Amino acid sequence: MSNDIKTQVVVLGAGPGGYSAAFRAADLGLDVTLVEAGQTLGGVCLNVGCIPSKALLHVAKVIDDAKDMASHGVTFGAPEIDLDKIRDWKDSVVAKLTGGLDGMAKMRKVNVVNGYGKFTGSNTLAVEGKDGVTNINFDNAIIAAGSEPVNLPFIPKDDRVIDSTGALEMKDIPGEMLVLGGGIIGLEMGTVYSSLGSNVSVVEFLDQLVPAADKDIVQAYTKYNKNRFNIMLSTKVVAVEAKDDGLYVTFEGKKAPAEPVRYDKILVAVGRKPNGNLCDADKAGVKVDERGFINVDKQLRTNVNNIFAIGDVIGQPMLAHKAVHEGHVAAEVISGKKHFFEPQGIPSVAYTDPEMAWVGITEKEAKEQGLNVEAAKFPWAASGRAIASARTEGFTKLIFDKDTHRILGGAIVGINAGEMLGEIGLAIEMGADAEDIALTVHAHPTLNESIGLAAEIYEGSITDLP
Ligand code: FAD
Repeated sequence: MSNDIKTQVVVLGAGPGGYSAAFRAADLGLDVTLVEAGQTLGGVCLNVGCIPSKALLHVAKVIDDAKDMASHGVTFGAPEIDLDKIRDWKDSVVAKLTGGLDGMAKMRKVNVVNGYGKFTGSNTLAVEGKDGVTNINFDNAIIAAGSEPVNLPFIPKDDRVIDSTGALEMKDIPGEMLVLGGGIIGLEMGTVYSSLGSNVSVVEFLDQLVPAADKDIVQAYTKYNKNRFNIMLSTKVVAVEAKDDGLYVTFEGKKAPAEPVRYDKILVAVGRKPNGNLCDADKAGVKVDERGFINVDKQLRTNVNNIFAIGDVIGQPMLAHKAVHEGHVAAEVISGKKHFFEPQGIPSVAYTDPEMAWVGITEKEAKEQGLNVEAAKFPWAASGRAIASARTEGFTKLIFDKDTHRILGGAIVGINAGEMLGEIGLAIEMGADAEDIALTVHAHPTLNESIGLAAEIYEGSITDLP
């Protein structure tokens, strides 16, 4: 029996970018083959990323909210943690979504090939699966091979040193945990473990957590979390020694403890590296840079005319929704449409407590680019909904072009910031100005009202804030 396939479009990798590209291409009438090395569709995001982390953050939030109720007159008993059940809950969420993708692929007659794909030429790919090799002859290819966690070579290989995938396995709740890297993934997983009972320390080499976000946003977050985490900024880990009774970590820098500190677990969350070098893209003539990123144009085309690349493998921000939109554009271009990927803003959200979210230009970027901008902030201490929810630590910030009053960016720190951000993203994409936003009637009392009110502050119609 021949294992050879001829297809109009082959998509390499079935993460958010890959499955979105495959489904859009199939919807546009193309014959599509989707190659995936993992057991299930969905890639990092559904299996070991966005979705399982949010299922666990949901558990963390319920625990935290129950604790907070004590100050409003309702006291619950101490939570009883059943790790097996928490894991089952998380796994059931993942299974529901990955199973859904199987159905969507079948419905569209997308041919899924399981195995590891490597290019053998600019129109050929060999997939090594458990039943042997499948040779695929394609007209067009979309590389959606994603990324994997960065390891630090000086940290010993030890079961007690985990990456985000290990953290999501929830094998135990360590007493003392070190999160190495103060980015979004480290803080989200640190939140989960601290809500479940771990003492969590966070060490960050730079002088700010979540370096991509504006300082004021991160400052509000850090202040709220001063009792949740022991945060060591401008500090680096220089050595880790694995002993029977724990991992002994030596620090250097501003907040460095003088002696090595013992931890039960270390979560290494220092970033992700692209998988561009692992699929023999060079055999198809595709240029991959030394870090593993593949360069593309605004139509997501690589230097080889019939080969496209999308998602984490083409660069920052490494986010699922960016991959999805890029996947759509690549499929549409292959089908003959003159489409381009040129969003006015790509939202970033840290699903921490409180959440930090931003879209469009940040104040920091505006400064670097020498743009003439002005920011308006609405403090949640003046929001009825935030006060009623006992969560006034946040604020909403809008960034406007000083000359045209057009909105260029926005950022929110506070509960539900990620959900709220959509309105700002839409305003940016639609080219709204401060007056458009200020004149939009927002429901009262909502947190979203703070977006309208920030615009009113900018327009000068509110001046009496606390
Ligand atoms: P991936 O999801 O990485 O998928 C690539 C797929 O390709 C994988 O399934 C891999 O097995 C397969 N593959 C690779 N090479 C080959 C090959 N040669 N042959 C066959 N198959 C191959 N992003 C968000 O937007 N929001 C979040 O809340 C969020 N949370 C996250 C939490 C964690 C813990 C992590 C780790 C990431 C999170 N991300 C989040 C990032 C998000 O997961 C990625 O940006 C997204 O998955 C990238 O999608 P992708 O399609 O580029 O690749």
